[in-house]
Amino acid sequence: MIDLHAHSAVSDGTDTPEEFVQAALDARLDVVALTDHDTFDGIERAKAEALRCGVRVLAGIELSTQFDGASVHLLGYGCNGEDVRLAHELEKIRRSRLSRIPGMLERLADLGLPLTIEEVQVQAGGVSVGRPHVADALVARGYLANRTEAFERLLYDGGPAYVERYAPKLGRGIDLIREAGGVAVIAHPWGRGGRSILSPSVLRSLVFDHGLDGVEVDHNDHDARTSAELRKLAAAMGLLATGGSDYHGTGKTGHPLGCHTTSPEVLQALESLVHSRGGAL
Ligand code: AMP
Ligand code: FE
Ligand code: FE
Ligand code: ZN
Repeated sequence: MIDLHAHSAVSDGTDTPEEFVQAALDARLDVVALTDHDTFDGIERAKAEALRCGVRVLAGIELSTQFDGASVHLLGYGCNGEDVRLAHELEKIRRSRLSRIPGMLERLADLGLPLTIEEVQVQAGGVSVGRPHVADALVARGYLANRTEAFERLLYDGGPAYVERYAPKLGRGIDLIREAGGVAVIAHPWGRGGRSILSPSVLRSLVFDHGLDGVEVDHNDHDARTSAELRKLAAAMGLLATGGSDYHGTGKTGHPLGCHTTSPEVLQALESLVHSRGGAL
């Protein structure tokens, strides 16, 4: 079984990279890609643990981007983490992830839910700080029951405690991933209102203008009909059709490792592309 989308506590998952590999083993996965938000920090540790366990861990990332002002997540596989342009852009995104937190805390204080920045930082295990960690701090204070409640009441896009942050344009994200030797796949493109943003004609122009490589077809945010339509479109456009769980440990319910998978044929095609670009999985 091959799962190409998962997070560790280096971003907003809850497993350390080592625990994550153990979880992949428990889920009987053969191959799993670690795709933390805007950082490669967990890759080395996960790979070291994987060597001991006989699971194959692939180097991935879930890059924050935007298209027409809407947030779009872009999966990158096999990127060279040392690539200067990509590293610089990741640094810029992570800085903005952090610099938005005081604004969110101000809003929460106005809502009668004061938190300190230290309480958020304690929840963030690594360099990629996000709304889920603000949610965790709210839960730790006993204000709310869980992340879901925090998102539904306060942190959703445009919500009362929401503050925007920087993200590069989607096309630029694809360029950066490819220039770093990687393969670019849009994560859950038609989930949560994405369908009106990433229409077939937009996807076609991303292929034509930037060389988009694939779309994540099988994901919890797609119902069976949506996946089937997207799979057909991917085939017509020559795009890789991947699948992944979007596992976040206990940070997101209903996303167990292996709940969506990628076929061996698609992984093989993805690997050849990475090798042809000088990247490494
Ligand atoms: P951010 O990148 O800081 O703006 O936060 C967005 C992240 O929050 C997404 O990548 C998801 O992993 C996570 N997220 C969004 N909605 C929820 C939810 N309802 N429950 C848990 N996590 C969520
Ligand atoms: Fe996440
Ligand atoms: Fe995502
Ligand atoms: Zn994800």
